[in-house]
Amino acid sequence: MITVGSPYLPDRGRLWSYLERIYEVGQVSNNGPLVRELEERLKDFLGIDHMLLVANGTLALSVAVKTLNIAGEAVTTPFTFVATSAALSNVGVLPRYADIDPVTLNLDAASAEQALTEHTTALVPVHVYGNPCDVRALGELARRRGLAIVYDAAHALGVDQDGASLLRWGDAATLSFHATKLFHTGEGGGIVFREKEAEERARSLINFGMDQDSGTIRYPGGNAKMSELQAAMGLAVLEDLPDILARRGEILRVYETALQGWVEFPRWSPDATRNGAYAPILLEDQGARDRLWSALERADIHCRPYFYPALSTAPPYHAEQRFRNAEATAARVLCLPVYPGLGDHTVRFICETIKKELSSWAG
Ligand SMILES: *Cc1c(COP(=O)(O)O)cnc(C)c1O
Repeated sequence: MITVGSPYLPDRGRLWSYLERIYEVGQVSNNGPLVRELEERLKDFLGIDHMLLVANGTLALSVAVKTLNIAGEAVTTPFTFVATSAALSNVGVLPRYADIDPVTLNLDAASAEQALTEHTTALVPVHVYGNPCDVRALGELARRRGLAIVYDAAHALGVDQDGASLLRWGDAATLSFHATKLFHTGEGGGIVFREKEAEERARSLINFGMDQDSGTIRYPGGNAKMSELQAAMGLAVLEDLPDILARRGEILRVYETALQGWVEFPRWSPDATRNGAYAPILLEDQGARDRLWSALERADIHCRPYFYPALSTAPPYHAEQRFRNAEATAARVLCLPVYPGLGDHTVRFICETIKKELSSWAG
């Protein structure tokens, strides 16, 4: 059986050596030494200044929104994992949708501008599949209209744009370290802030609103701390991250070479590196997508229609308005298997199965 993804399990001896340190120090949570070490090593790896680690990627987004005092409505994309809208709703911010660009599949700046109301205080775009949003157009819009920007960068770890981390864009960018993501801590997440002062406020918000050292209660906060157990897994995986990124990139290139002319691909930013977080292909319409998806299932190749349905058509977030590009893309996209342990022969088998199925439709 070939699955769409597979949690990355690091060398168990290496994981154990980090767990040993928990026994030596006797600290399991509350900003312990392993969380602090992982934070420093990720900042070094990414070349960024202000980051904090949290319990998961959904809380990362909710905490970033609270930290920046975002209220009322945020304009966001309907073409994403449901967590993006859920994280806003959970802190009382209404997700207001705008359509995506049909070729990059990211929030379109002109549509976002049209969706603004007097209640909008922020933009929450997503770097879908790790493909950078039009950060300049969105940044210009936010500046002109006095809005905050929080990028949901759950897919974007390891992506550089114009030679530096994509995570430096926005007032904040949030990450997910869920086991299904390319780098993980089991469950976990991170927030990158532009301003040090925002990072400090967030540190207090994830710890019941208390000041780390003095214990003074400063805000109505919650609990979104990462534990030492999670950080141990993260430190063990981090050592392999360069290899993980390289192998995922290779798999994407094999797919694109083999399937060129057979299926469509999103248009990837020419100014950015690619992290191989996902391997999306686009079929002509939902009928074709579902037919190919079933054929692959029969061959025991399990793909996923990330991100179907568009959130604008999902009951809790249902919008009156239609978002043509987002809804059409959700109906015709399919993500192919990609993870470091996927061998070349398996990738070739998947490509051959796709081509054989598509050929059988001709005439
Ligand atoms: C995975 C994901 C999240 C949520 O992350 P968790 O760590 O699972 O809470 C948020 N947004 C997007 C786009 C995601 O893919």
